[in-house]
Amino acid sequence: MEKNNKPSYFIDTHAHLDMLKNMTPETAVKNSLAENVKYIINPGSSLEGSIKSCQYSNKFEAVYSSVGVHPHDAETFDKRTLSELEKLVKGNKKVIAIGETGFDYYRNLSPKNDQENAFISQIELALKYNLPVIVHDREAHSDTLKILKSCTGSLNAVIHCFSGSTDFALKCLEMGFFISFTGVITFPNAKELVQTVKEVPIERLFLETDAPFLAPQERRGQENYPGFVKYIAAKIADIKGLSVDEVARITSVSARKFFKLN
Ligand SMILES: [Zn+2]
Ligand SMILES: [Zn+2]
Repeated sequence: MEKNNKPSYFIDTHAHLDMLKNMTPETAVKNSLAENVKYIINPGSSLEGSIKSCQYSNKFEAVYSSVGVHPHDAETFDKRTLSELEKLVKGNKKVIAIGETGFDYYRNLSPKNDQENAFISQIELALKYNLPVIVHDREAHSDTLKILKSCTGSLNAVIHCFSGSTDFALKCLEMGFFISFTGVITFPNAKELVQTVKEVPIERLFLETDAPFLAPQERRGQENYPGFVKYIAAKIADIKGLSVDEVARITSVSARKFFKLN
């Protein structure tokens, strides 16, 4: 980046503004803009959350929404949920993805079978509207791969809050998918994940806070919000021997293209 030019901006590709407790969405967006975050993608975790996400994206220029039902809530997912999600897609120009959806075998709050059915339905919805899918995968790497493999073709997907091995990351990359890292990479015990960051080409990864969860090490104990995405960028810059500005620029170009933001 040339001197005097405006520095590149960040895109927080995954922040639950609808779940913030200590900050209003207004304050979160305003403070994030001040931290050079130009766009924030608010994924839906439930139907209610997806509706809120659409409200925010209609209200705030910087916010885009993804609509979906988290694997935790997959038990409640039925035909009506699917048609309500579809209505949100059709009725809101700023819905740019489907999700988050996938598997969570760590907490297993919904039966595996329901998680799988909800995941497949949401992938089909994404394919129908040519939207990318935001995938949640916790301790379910092989089942996640199995489902994604069965639905490839034109499917675009990002594995959010990546927590797998380098080997799993490479398999996802091979299938054309993207990988997104949270503040977990800044934690002292994240040695394996740091190794994975090294192996994932910078053009194939996104930044995300997963706010209000997972505040980066520098802000441990605080409520996370998109303004903290800079700590994740700094860690990636450090791991890859790039400047923070390069990380911001390259990841923002990829994210804009992937989510078709304009
Ligand atoms: Zn998630
Ligand atoms: Zn999330």
